[in-house]
Amino acid sequence: MTDKRHTVALFGGTFDPVHFGHLRMALELQQALGFDQMRLLPSHQPRHRQSPGVSPERRRQMLQLALDGCDELQLDLRELNRGGPTYTVDTLEELRSELGDDVSISFCMGLDSLLTLPSWHRWERLLQLAHLVVATRPGWQLPQRDAGGAETQVAALLDECRGEAEDLKRESRGRLVVREQTLLPISATRIRHLVARGKSPRFLLPAAVLQYIEDNRLYKSD
Ligand code: ATP
Repeated sequence: MTDKRHTVALFGGTFDPVHFGHLRMALELQQALGFDQMRLLPSHQPRHRQSPGVSPERRRQMLQLALDGCDELQLDLRELNRGGPTYTVDTLEELRSELGDDVSISFCMGLDSLLTLPSWHRWERLLQLAHLVVATRPGWQLPQRDAGGAETQVAALLDECRGEAEDLKRESRGRLVVREQTLLPISATRIRHLVARGKSPRFLLPAAVLQYIEDNRLYKSD
């Protein structure tokens, strides 16, 4: 097999609003794993949390401001445009038929998301369509076989499918790659709370995004 396979990675989220935690994570994964494309994939209405605070259109505009001039990261708007509940498996099916069988597709997530995987719609199908890249904080424990419940299922998946970074170029799908990554201690929830209490979230997110939030009086009553 060729090791010059085209590699496309996706980093999904609500981005309500996008912040430096998301942006650093996406950029570091892109640089460390050498993806040809790293696309931020804002969801319209994620299944795993309540509806986001601001409209899809506003979240799209904030992402565009954040990515202005950043050639390493792109925006994939298919879930925002599709509307309704977001299922990762549907997105990956669509992307796979668009890009063809040879392109390597990686769906990136945090370890916390991986632990919920067995509750995702048609989760067993995900690795038939793409690789999963899991970012974990240094020192965090991976799922254990004897933990029971979802954790046991995820541990079994890890035993079966765990791969190395090089596999993401060698193969088009099917590997679960774990990357140790330092996460910046920033969350969109904290930013929304700060704004709602009249405090500044400056230096947690791009200045242009903060300006947009102020201009449009977003998150004022969270
Ligand atoms: P909220 O606080 O509203 O739940 P969030 O800041 O956690 O939002 P999401 O949009 O829900 O952001 O998450 C999108 C993706 O970004 C997820 O994969 C999540 O694990 C990741 N993520 C969130 N915060 C950080 C961070 N500080 N560093 C790296 N990745 C992050």
